[in-house]
Amino acid sequence: MSRGLADIAAEAARCTKCRLAEGRTQVVFGVGSPDADLLFIGEGPGLHEDKQGEPFVGAAGQLLTRMLGEIGLRRDEVYIANVVKCRPPGNRDPLPDEIEACTPWLVEQLSAIQPQLVVTLGNFATKFVLQTTRGITSMRGHVYDWHGRSVIPTFHPAAILHGGGEKSRQFVDLRDDFGLIRKTLDGLGRDVGGVAEHTTAPEGPGEEPPDERQMELF
Ligand code: URA
Repeated sequence: MSRGLADIAAEAARCTKCRLAEGRTQVVFGVGSPDADLLFIGEGPGLHEDKQGEPFVGAAGQLLTRMLGEIGLRRDEVYIANVVKCRPPGNRDPLPDEIEACTPWLVEQLSAIQPQLVVTLGNFATKFVLQTTRGITSMRGHVYDWHGRSVIPTFHPAAILHGGGEKSRQFVDLRDDFGLIRKTLDGLGRDVGGVAEHTTAPEGPGEEPPDERQMELF
């Protein structure tokens, strides 16, 4: 029996398991429905998230909220989390020992919420969750089987904003991926086999060797 999300969040709020605790304003645990079928995983809080205590509230978050709206979902109907719960200084990538220290919180979130579909936002979360060295451009656009759940990787909304924005090819792909998310959710609880593309995660011929330091989620 897993603990409730509120208990886990209260404990996480006091976490000092890695150096990120020293620079944070607050722990950014996650936000949304504790019963969500759909859970998003980003990389880590940025400046605005650190200040407000909620993931994806800056410009990238606004794009995420808009894409959700396009497929008929509100933020409070899904759950939004990050690989690490505290802001890395200067928005650098989280370090391996920081990820290792923080992973138990994500594991607890997944076991409390039990989402059927996980969407990884960007290269960092995708490589971490699916334990792959393949880049997001080749991973996106497919549904992967992952420990009894489905995973759909897509671009990080910040990458769209820093790239070509709405005129870019990536934005078209992002919109397609949200269409795939909608279609996959619609298939849940009925015939999951009806999902068009199910690919077993994630390695294939020609892979780079796995990064030994990469922390595993499961
Ligand atoms: N980028 C992320 O990966 N997570 C956030 O919460 C905000 C921006």
